[in-house]
Amino acid sequence: MYSSSINKLIDALKKLPSVGQHTAGRYVFHWLKSGKVEVNELKNALDNLLKNIKSCEKCWNFSDFNPCEICSNTKRDQNQICVVDEAQAVAALEKTGVYTGVYHILRGTIDVSDDNTLATLKINELLERIKTNTNIQEIILALNPDMPGETTMLYLEKQVKIFNPQIKITRLARGLPMGSDLQYSDEITLGSALKNRFSNIN
Ligand SMILES: [Zn+2]
Repeated sequence: MYSSSINKLIDALKKLPSVGQHTAGRYVFHWLKSGKVEVNELKNALDNLLKNIKSCEKCWNFSDFNPCEICSNTKRDQNQICVVDEAQAVAALEKTGVYTGVYHILRGTIDVSDDNTLATLKINELLERIKTNTNIQEIILALNPDMPGETTMLYLEKQVKIFNPQIKITRLARGLPMGSDLQYSDEITLGSALKNRFSNIN
C-alpha cells in the first residue's frame, strides 16, 4: 500500500519494543509531515549514539567512556558489585543516591524456555571479575522480583558460591512488589530496598 521507502522504515521501527504496525506508521507519517529539521535531529542523535557509545568492559554498561564513569571513579567501592538486568536499572539505582559500589549489567535475564539466553548474558564476565578480584566483599543481586529475575538470582547465587564461597550475597529488601520492574520504582522505595537488603544463604 505504501511506497517501499515508507514500508522499510515501518519495518525497522517495528523491531522496537512495544511498537506495532499502527504505531510505526504514525511515527513515519509524523516525520513526513514535520519536515527535515526534526528528521535530521533524530538522524544525528542516532549517528552520535553509534559513534560514541561503548560497552564498558568491566561492568557492561553503555557509556561514552570505557571504562565507564562509575568503574573509573576512585571514590566508588570496587569490592561491592550490584548486579542488574539492564542498563536502565543502573540509572534508577543511581537516582536513589544511596549506593557507592560498582555495577555489573547482565543484559537480560535467564529465560527457562530458551537455552540460548544463558550464553548471551554477561554471566561468565561477572564470574571472571570475581575470579580476578579476590577482594570483592559483596554481590548485591538487584534483579526484578519476577520469575526470570528469581531464576537468574538463584543461578547466580550458586555460581558465585562455587567461585568464591566467602563473598556475601545479598538481595534487595522485599519492599518491591512481586512482578514489579525496578526501573520504574520510585527512588524512596528503591533506596530503602537497597539499604535494607538481606542475605539469603550466609
Ligand atoms: Zn563500567
